[in-house]
Amino acid sequence: MTAYDNNNIFAKILRGEIPSERVYEDDTCVAFMDVMPQAQGHTLVVPKAPSRNLLDADPTTLAALMPTVQKIAQAVKVAFDADGIVVKQYNEPAAGQTVYHLHIHVIPAHDGVPLKAHTGEMEKPEVLKANAEKLRAALKS
Ligand code: 5GP
Repeated sequence: MTAYDNNNIFAKILRGEIPSERVYEDDTCVAFMDVMPQAQGHTLVVPKAPSRNLLDADPTTLAALMPTVQKIAQAVKVAFDADGIVVKQYNEPAAGQTVYHLHIHVIPAHDGVPLKAHTGEMEKPEVLKANAEKLRAALKS
């Protein structure tokens, strides 16, 4: 497997070198809005520990990650009045992975509404900001 690259875009976001709409942080994970959302409210949950994806992650990283994914999924469902939640994760280019730092997609789904394409259109910064505010409010309640 290719080695982890410390300069991938999510490593830079974790270090605060490039901006993101961060909605949650604890000792092991952060969550921020996806810039090319497949639906309004599409959020990424990202462990702080470096790994390319699930295949090379330390099991302790995975164990800490899933409770946060659940917390974010519950809040996304409330904040975006979703009928369901898609949780997905890609490993390596053949599977569709495009950023090589482990992350879990949390995407609100509404009955009869198809998701947009993976890594499709860039969302406007003001829309991402408003969505992040909604999600932060749901996480607080
Ligand atoms: P992957 O294909 O690796 O599972 O997903 C990477 C995700 O990261 C995509 O959904 C893409 O829209 C999102 N993404 C790519 N670059 C950035 C960025 O600079 N900031 C944020 N917040 N999301 C990004």
